Amino acid sequence: MTRRNLGPAGEAVFDRLTIIGAGLIGSSIARAARKVGAIKAISIADRDEDVIARARALSLGDSYFLSAREAAAGADIVIFCAPVGANAELAAEVAPALKPGAVVSDVGSVKGAVVAAVGPYLPEGVHFVPAHPVAGTEESGPEAGFANLFVNRWCILTPPEGGNAGATERVAAFWTAIGANVEVMTPEHHDLVLAITSHVPHLIAYNIVGTAADMEAVTRSEVIKFSAGGFRDFTRIAASDPTMWRDVFLNNKDAVLEMLGRFTEDLTALQRMIRRGDGDGLFDLFTRTRAIRRGIVEVGQETKAPDFGRQSANDADDAAR
Ligand code: NAP
Repeated sequence: MTRRNLGPAGEAVFDRLTIIGAGLIGSSIARAARKVGAIKAISIADRDEDVIARARALSLGDSYFLSAREAAAGADIVIFCAPVGANAELAAEVAPALKPGAVVSDVGSVKGAVVAAVGPYLPEGVHFVPAHPVAGTEESGPEAGFANLFVNRWCILTPPEGGNAGATERVAAFWTAIGANVEVMTPEHHDLVLAITSHVPHLIAYNIVGTAADMEAVTRSEVIKFSAGGFRDFTRIAASDPTMWRDVFLNNKDAVLEMLGRFTEDLTALQRMIRRGDGDGLFDLFTRTRAIRRGIVEVGQETKAPDFGRQSANDADDAAR
């Protein structure tokens, strides 16, 4: 199923939404849902008292909880927005409070491990529709979120085989209402696709910035002072949340290792081209990669702006608030 967003829904898709984890993604969902009227009432839960106080100051919801279980009681949809590694514990905690017919979803960047961790805890009559909005920034916390984060981005749903089709439809309707386009696929395929489009690129960024930081021949202050555009782009990615990304790599081990194997082979081929002075080989590869970049800009998943359009998305959101 592919579903394009058709603009603001205008009417609520669910009555009560509970968001657990009021960080970048959770707070963006709350802001977006409120902005388009996709939800009648929003409960916010986070384990951190300070985060709850900040969420309240930002008026992200209608009620606030330190207990995920209390927040989930009576909700029509509960969305786990904490790091992937917290999902099993959260499912066990909220399960006794879920009402029959409730939908449980998440936003985790990994799907196979989340399905395996959460599914067994959910009672009969509760529908599980895992989701991953392919949208984000390197920032964390409730202040980092903005209502337009999901506009024209993809949200991938990985419903279990034989799961409730109506629940999947409603979750899809919710994401399209807040601006996203929806695609459905299996958790395994999701994990393979995201390994190469997101997880391995993050690992490469962490690695190159780590290597630069640990070098002896070039000092750390020289790395910072003379950082060129390419390196600066890597540092942006390598500034992403350590907890979130630790959990991604621990929970998408197989697909990441498979893609890393392929990446290493291609890197060795590049090494050989440089050693042999194979300018044509390098030129051909760089021409093909340039076409990929142009394709991404053409389909509107990126802009040519040096800030990749992220600042303009924030500005548009600020104007809308
Ligand atoms: P974030 O800004 O760090 O927010 C996560 C929040 O969840 C934090 O306030 C954290 O509190 C809280 N939390 C952690 N464990 C909890 C628990 N057991 N109960 C209640 N709250 C808990 O992270 P994020 O960037 O929004 O990422 C959240 C999820 O979205 C992750 O699963 C990630 O894979 C997914 N995702 C992220 C992006 C992205 O670009 N960032 C994009 C798509 C999907 P503490 O600070 O106390 O730990």
